[in-house]
This record gives sequence, C-alpha cells and structure tokens, in this order.
Amino acid sequence: MLEAESADWIWTGRYVVTMDPQRHVIENGAIAIAGQRILAAGAKAEIERRYQARQRLDRPDAILAPGLISTHTHAAMSLLRGIADDLRLQEWLEHYIFPAEARNVTPDFVRWGTRLGCLEMLLSGTTTFTDMYYFEDVAAEATREAGMRGVLGETIIGFPSPDAKTPAAALAFTARFLNRFHDDSLIVPAVAPHAIYTNSDETLRAARVLANRHQAPLLIHLSETKRENDECLAKRHVTPTKALDDLGVLNGRTVAAHCVWVDEADLAILKARGVGIAHCPSSNMKLASGVAPVTRMLALDLPVGLGPDGPAGSNNDFNMFEEMDLAAKLQKVITGDPRNLSAAAAVEMATIRGARALGMEKEIGSLEAGKRADLISIRLDRPNAVPLYNVYSQMVYALKGSDVEDVMVNGRLVVKDARALTLNEAEIEAKAREYRAQIQKSLQ
Ligand SMILES: [Zn+2]
Repeated sequence: MLEAESADWIWTGRYVVTMDPQRHVIENGAIAIAGQRILAAGAKAEIERRYQARQRLDRPDAILAPGLISTHTHAAMSLLRGIADDLRLQEWLEHYIFPAEARNVTPDFVRWGTRLGCLEMLLSGTTTFTDMYYFEDVAAEATREAGMRGVLGETIIGFPSPDAKTPAAALAFTARFLNRFHDDSLIVPAVAPHAIYTNSDETLRAARVLANRHQAPLLIHLSETKRENDECLAKRHVTPTKALDDLGVLNGRTVAAHCVWVDEADLAILKARGVGIAHCPSSNMKLASGVAPVTRMLALDLPVGLGPDGPAGSNNDFNMFEEMDLAAKLQKVITGDPRNLSAAAAVEMATIRGARALGMEKEIGSLEAGKRADLISIRLDRPNAVPLYNVYSQMVYALKGSDVEDVMVNGRLVVKDARALTLNEAEIEAKAREYRAQIQKSLQ
C-alpha cells in the first residue's frame, strides 16, 4: 500500500467536467488540490485513495467544472448598469457613456465598480475576466482583493479620458502598470488600445511595441459594427483587420473583441497571427451590431472565447451562462442549422478555448494536473436541473449563473454556498446605489 500524498483540498461531485484534451466527464469524480494548483482529477474512489486532504468540499449533487473565462468586459461600468438602453452604439457612447464617464470616473469609481463586477462574476462562476477600462491599476487592486484572475488592460483612446489627457499619457500609464503587475499570480497586465477608429496609427503601433516589450497581450475592439468597417473601407480601402495587420498591430499576443464584420480574408489573417477572438453574443444582439461568423471561426479552429462585454447598455450583466446559451442559439439562427455551435462547443468556448484566446491554455481552462486550481461547482438539485441526460446540454441550455454554489480561484475558496467570502456584498451594493444618485445628478 502506498502512503497517501497530502493535499490541501479534495472536491467531490456527481460529475467532473474536465475539458481535458479527451473531454473526460467523470461520474462520481473528485479533484485534489495543493497550493495554487490541481494535483489530479479522477474517480472519487481513486482520488481518495491517493490523497489525504486537510479540507474537503463534497457536492454529491453538483457538477464540478473549470471556472468560466470571460474574454471581454468592462467591469467598472457595472456602476452605469442600465443608464441608457435600446440605442445605437455610437449614440449610446457619444451621448451617454462618454459624458457620464468624463464626469464620474475616478479611482474610487473604478474600485467600487470593479468590486461590484467581480462580485457578480464570481457568484455566477467566472474565475478569469478580461477587462478594458481606466485606472486599471485600481481595477487590478480590486481584482486581487476579490481573489479573482484578471487580464487587465488600461484603455488607450485618442481623446482625453478620465485618467489620461493624451494617448501618450495613457501609454506612459500603461508602461508603469505593466511594470507593477508583471509577475503576479492573479493579474496579467495588458495594453488596450480601444479600437482602430478611436486611435491614430502612431498610437496603435506604439501600443504593439509596448505590449511586445513586456510580453503582454494587446486587447482591442475589432470590426464590431458595420459602420466601423464601412468607414475603414472608405478611408483606408481595406478592412479593419487588414489595416491593423498592415500596421503590425497583430504581430504578437492579441485578443480582439467582437469580430462581427470579418470576411474570409480577415479570418485567414486572424488565424495566421494567432489572434484570440472574444465573441460577445449578448452585446452584439442588444446593440444590433450583427452576428459574428463563429461557426466558420470554429471550423477554422480559431481560439474564440466568450465575453459579456459591458454591463452599461451593451448587455447589462456579466453572466457567462447566458453567453454560452446565446452563442449557441445565435449560430443556429444565422446559419439555419441547429447542429451548429453545439452545447459542448459553447462550454469549450467558455473554458479551454477561451483560455487559448487569452494565450493562457497551459495555466487555466481545464481541470488537469498541474493547472491552476480555478474551479466551480454547479448545483443539480433544482427544478431546472432535473432530469439530466447530458452535462453539456444542461450547462448551456438549462443551468443559470445563479446555480453556481462554490468557486475557487488559484487554490483559494472565494465563494461558498453561493456567498462571496472575499467581498462584502451588502457594502458593495449600498455603494452602487450611492453612485447611481451621483451619476444621475451629473447628467442633468
Ligand atoms: Zn467592449
């Protein structure tokens, strides 16, 4: 008899959805964890024989799955949730969001907004999020404090923003930010030029140089609307993707959000450059931006993940279960074929394929030995969870973010029994209501 190895945690569940290369789903499974990493995932009996754990979490009627990965959002905009809905993107941005931000976005706003965003994301099973906003150093502090994983990019934009008068100042801010968080177990600092239509060529090139110097990802919005594409074609006679590629902006780790209006030549460029794509179905539907050719992207095996985008009008929440559901259904509608974007493919996009989009597939996105211990439990004892024939179908079409019961990030339990352990829910919600009054006044 071998002596049992010691572990910090053993989690057990009715199903362990590993998302490993063979896509093993283990019935009566378990996961052993030590420090920040997974020791093993396997049958419960086997894991219990091999490991002696200091702490246990037994969920005999739950799915254990990798933490969900959001590849595009703006967390602090949670404080602007619902400020202006049912408008065109440009009108929404220019008449509501940009003025509200100019008058209200401070480090304190970003701290509370990010806390609110992290709280909602953790409670609905997201363990990693990708963010583009202002005062991103404060967002990083709030994310660390929540115990959440973040790929966080300071927004660089061609007009005065709440924390930088010029793009040059935003680039300098970003350089300091990259240095400060360069070796962090939770934060991946990034460079985030807003889009091709809001930045000069010079700024876009400088952003790429800065990102590559720090081996950081570059985050950007790309081909979100038809208008963006039409204007780019009129001005440059090429698509936004081709224009960015010609500028060298795609030469390095990149995550491009939306990619709704990309053509076959654009997809070939994105594949050749290894660009990660953040598909945001709620946002694209709500703003009537169009439908990204995700079925084609998956046929090309592109690294395409999911994101809720902003909570302030382009979606209004951070629920990745909803994004999985809508991503699957939207491809069925647009292609006229219900076989496209299966439930399993949607779960893949929210986990391991999303990890690939971020260039983090060696660290997160599946429950495998050696990976970071980022995992969730989802309860199966509610009316919408019974009976269960297929775990992927259940996760995408029946289960909700509110069915998430426990969340661990980097080996630390951050949600237990659907309660956040790292964030003060009552305090954050009170602060959000306070901000609502202030923001409302500022727009009068
Ligand atoms: Zn966005």
